[in-house]
Amino acid sequence: MKFTPEKYRIPDQPLQPFIDAGEIWDFLQKATSSPERVRTIISKSLDKQRLTLEETAVLINADDPELIEQIKEGALRLKEKVYGNRIVLFAPLYIGNKCINNCQYCGFRTDNKEAIRKTLSPDEIRAEVEALEDNGQKRLILVFGEHPEYSADFIAQTVRSVYTTKKGKGEIRRVNINAAPLDIEGFRTVKQAGIGTYQVFQETYHPEAYYQYHLAGKKRDYVNRLISLDKAQEAGIDDVGIGALFGLYDWRFEVLGLVRHANHLEACYNVGPHTISFPRIKDALSMNMPQKYHVNDSDFGRLVAILRLAVPYTGMILTARESPVVRKEVMKYGVSQIDGGTKLELGAYSRSLNEQQNLNREQFFINDSRSLDEIIEELLNEDFLPSFCTACYRLGRTGEHFMEISVPGFIHQYCTPNAMLTLAEYLEDYASEPVKEKGWKAIEANQHKITNEKRLEELRAKLQRIRNGERDLY
Ligand code: SAM
Ligand code: SF4
Repeated sequence: MKFTPEKYRIPDQPLQPFIDAGEIWDFLQKATSSPERVRTIISKSLDKQRLTLEETAVLINADDPELIEQIKEGALRLKEKVYGNRIVLFAPLYIGNKCINNCQYCGFRTDNKEAIRKTLSPDEIRAEVEALEDNGQKRLILVFGEHPEYSADFIAQTVRSVYTTKKGKGEIRRVNINAAPLDIEGFRTVKQAGIGTYQVFQETYHPEAYYQYHLAGKKRDYVNRLISLDKAQEAGIDDVGIGALFGLYDWRFEVLGLVRHANHLEACYNVGPHTISFPRIKDALSMNMPQKYHVNDSDFGRLVAILRLAVPYTGMILTARESPVVRKEVMKYGVSQIDGGTKLELGAYSRSLNEQQNLNREQFFINDSRSLDEIIEELLNEDFLPSFCTACYRLGRTGEHFMEISVPGFIHQYCTPNAMLTLAEYLEDYASEPVKEKGWKAIEANQHKITNEKRLEELRAKLQRIRNGERDLY
């Protein structure tokens, strides 16, 4: 099936269809996966080189269980090599669920008349942020429906209010955005408010499938969405996040779509996407989605491992859409960020009772509703190093994956110590007793990774300063 972009084009918009559905299917149909070829490609990736579309297709077509194990093993090794054992934590904050679009999979879609529509007021946003700070969060992603109320100015204003809300020792140090595409001027406006990453998920990279699920509203325009992060780059936002919603179309196609998108951004702007997200469709109110492209747990682990190998320096995000069991398994294959203590219902963080999930105000059901402290405890039990680090972005080191390539030992010089410092803050200010004990043991146990004596001394001094009450040392 050949992509015919004209069909999806809005007349006054430039056309840059870097996705060609016919070409992607050609790669998938032609790639043959001999054990030797698969091993060569895994080695290339372990050498920290990005894979081509053709090489990624070879990994996708490797159906032999032994080869799949080798791919997963390769992803595990690569993750350790590039990211170490650190996992960055964040929380989503839903600001408003009004929406002009009619995406079939989403509880916020226009034709869902049962949804109770709401936008948080400035006071409610403040209460939510304070509650999140009280839990120990330092990094948020603000989520918006697509609606005239959620203009670039509104988003920028919301971001500013989050940064200036501080409770006790708490503060939010990085605010990311997941919202509809803006125009170039709009992207400039939100950049000025100091956002971290701007995420826009393509949902499905297959144009025909896209058209079937997006029945009305601005989002129906496939090409407009595809080129939205190019506009962000033009506006000076070099920190962008891409994603596909798995379950809308063949997962093999979507993986190649994501890799093509990543390669496109890197080729055009010298900076690939900062993160890739790979949500699987979860139940939403009155949703009746076909199951044809449902991705089972085993293929899900496989596709995460393949993505890890294909784009070694791109952060990968796994959210509470997945159950604790799936998260524990999939995290090994290359995930670098997860959310913790997640609540999707509007206004839920500041409510005193941990109420039942209410799909009337939620976009979809989540499957991991553990508290941040419980998530951190499990990470520590699994020998991960939980991190709330925001140093690179605040030091102007965006495109940090390039720093990781170009500066030898970058991870151990910067990321591991910063992970320990931000974990130490959490342990002192918010952790339960058992987590505090485990966390300090983990900080002790990870210090051998810092081989430079001067740096180790600096780290120990800063850890002591944190114990003495100082904060935000990096
Ligand atoms: N409204 C904006 C948009 O569509 O880009 C941003 C926010 S939307 C609430 C964030 C993402 O949630 C969507 O891009 C989609 O991938 C995901 N999503 C929507 N419905 C979902 C469902 N039922 N299960 C899992 N993820 C879903
Ligand atoms: Fe609206 Fe986004 Fe949901 Fe689509 S996915 S209905 S645009 S909130």
